[in-house]
Amino acid sequence: MKSIFYSRFFILLPWVLIVIIVMDIDTKRSSVRSTAGSYLARLGDAQRRGEKPAHAAPSAANRTVLPPPPPPPLIYAVTPTYSRAVQKAELTRLANTFRQVPRFHWVVVEDAGARTELVARFLARCGVPYTHLNALTPRRFKRTGMPRATEQRNAALGWLRTHRDTREPGVVFFADDDNTYSLELFEEMRSTRGVSVWPVGLVGGRRYERPVVENGKVVGWYTGWRADRPFAIDMAGFAVNLQVILANPRALFKRRGAKPGMQESDFLKQITKLEELEPKARNCTQVLVWHTRTEKVNLGNEPKRHQDSVMIEV
Ligand code: UDP
Ligand code: MN
Repeated sequence: MKSIFYSRFFILLPWVLIVIIVMDIDTKRSSVRSTAGSYLARLGDAQRRGEKPAHAAPSAANRTVLPPPPPPPLIYAVTPTYSRAVQKAELTRLANTFRQVPRFHWVVVEDAGARTELVARFLARCGVPYTHLNALTPRRFKRTGMPRATEQRNAALGWLRTHRDTREPGVVFFADDDNTYSLELFEEMRSTRGVSVWPVGLVGGRRYERPVVENGKVVGWYTGWRADRPFAIDMAGFAVNLQVILANPRALFKRRGAKPGMQESDFLKQITKLEELEPKARNCTQVLVWHTRTEKVNLGNEPKRHQDSVMIEV
């Protein structure tokens, strides 16, 4: 009796399984058919009503899909800085401005044999994206009448040339640590295609110096000091597209034969011509940056040896 039951069970089992599988396939097919059917039906309805189907292929006129706009160029501000009583105060003032500039990268180059703790700690907390470099000015160049910060600016150019490539949109600006920068200045320079220029306040023995513009082109310079300079402009008065920096890998600030006040001209001569300059700040009629200089602090009462009960970083 038991054996008859088992033999029937095993004969029927495969047939039962086949029926289940066939039923399963059929229900799947009909569900696909009904989805497709309802979609086609909706399409037909929509077309009858003269509407465009939601997922229909675009017509030829509609097919141009605009690529996403490229990101605005990153501004690289190169700041040479050296150890002195006012250094942290200067850097703090700069960071308070730069923190508010979108798409900004601060390249800080210390005039020192090694990066200092003070600047490293300051940068880590300042809230501005940054790169911290150092380059020491040889002692023989640290004399009055010698151009300043040549090695530091060149170190920054070297960093840009090794760490940035030809696809990256950027604008390079030399931002000394004691100047005063308006926020508008950065939006003006962001559209620099080659080399752009603008007025600088409180420089050259005048209230301001500026490029003279006629019909949208720079034709000369309004300056009270060495008007014969090929580019009579302060370091704070121009910006260079990153691609121009990369395309001219030998363009550097010169030490040899360099005279003070000629650094800008010597550098710009290597990468541009007067007629190519792009005037900014309403055709060079607005002052958006000031060549301020911080007074040397009076430390006449500073004790020779440490007297306070605590050590305080200033
Ligand atoms: N600087 C430097 N090492 C020096 C003197 C100056 O790195 O021995 C930096 C300074 O911090 C500033 C830039 O070079 O960012 C220009 O120097 P300074 O403001 O004294 O020059 P000036 O105002 O006379 O053009
Ligand atoms: Mn200065």
